Amino acid sequence: MSLIASIETGGTKVFAAVAERENPHTLIETCRITTTDDPDRTLGALADFLAEHHRFSRIEAIGVASFGPLETDPASAQYGWITTTPKPGWRNTDLNRAFARLDDVPVAFVTDVTGSLLGERWNGAAVGLDNLAYATIGTGIGVGVMVHGRLVTGHGTPELGHFLVRRHPADDYLGTCPFHADCAEGLASGPAVLQRWGRTAAHPEEIDILAHYIAQLVLVTTLSVAPQKIVLGGGVMKTEGLLAAVREQAAVLTNGYLGVDHPLQNPGANFIVAPGLGDLAGIHGGLELALGLL
Ligand code: ADP
Ligand code: ZN
Repeated sequence: MSLIASIETGGTKVFAAVAERENPHTLIETCRITTTDDPDRTLGALADFLAEHHRFSRIEAIGVASFGPLETDPASAQYGWITTTPKPGWRNTDLNRAFARLDDVPVAFVTDVTGSLLGERWNGAAVGLDNLAYATIGTGIGVGVMVHGRLVTGHGTPELGHFLVRRHPADDYLGTCPFHADCAEGLASGPAVLQRWGRTAAHPEEIDILAHYIAQLVLVTTLSVAPQKIVLGGGVMKTEGLLAAVREQAAVLTNGYLGVDHPLQNPGANFIVAPGLGDLAGIHGGLELALGLL
């Protein structure tokens, strides 16, 4: 038996999983490691988890979906490094350090949202689609974009979470983004919600404010790259009633421009969807990446 492994790094934890190469949709074992201010401790625990499996059944390839900024260019000498992150202690961290004991196992790195996009396309809510976007509304807001079956990258990766929004008339909250204050992330990310209301959103007027911003994110993404589907994940999207409100507001904001047949115009359409894999989208994306290396 040979194995493939997947790693998802987030602001608060690293999640790792192994699966059989022949049966890649089934997670054999998983491991959650808290990310502290000391990446050596986190990466050491991750290396132990991987080495333990590698000893008995060889790990053939690893896919990594990581928070960033992450160097995702395989031609770069810093491929797989977390570079300029504000996360204490994690600046210029080489994630490859966790794989040193696995001989020359091939590793592929993508950003966290890209990992979730790949997972949803492989095994979730967007199977078979070549044009799609995955947005996470969590600690930050990020969007992964695929066009014609290829991930959109260029000078870095898309940063749609920071587009400048039209404000909700009833919202006077300043915004959390240290660069723009009231960009989408500054107004609708989890920390913005907690700082504005002291808790997660619950009342209809609060849901309305969040939906106003997230619907703009959906509209901008749709106008930019014409996806066949947009998957909305992340902790904030677990707010009850928010997905339905986003669908409603997206139709209002679009206001017929794309034609009455466009699914954005129809809140009942399966166009803006929750992740089919829930919180496991990223880890499945990592497994798909690993398979792609073999
Ligand atoms: P991360 O973005 O760090 O990977 P999440 O996607 O879980 O992690 O996002 C975390 C954010 O989502 C936090 O700010 C938290 O307040 C918010 N959040 C988590 N669960 C919920 C929930 N059930 N309802 C509303 N907000 C939530
Ligand atoms: Zn911003």
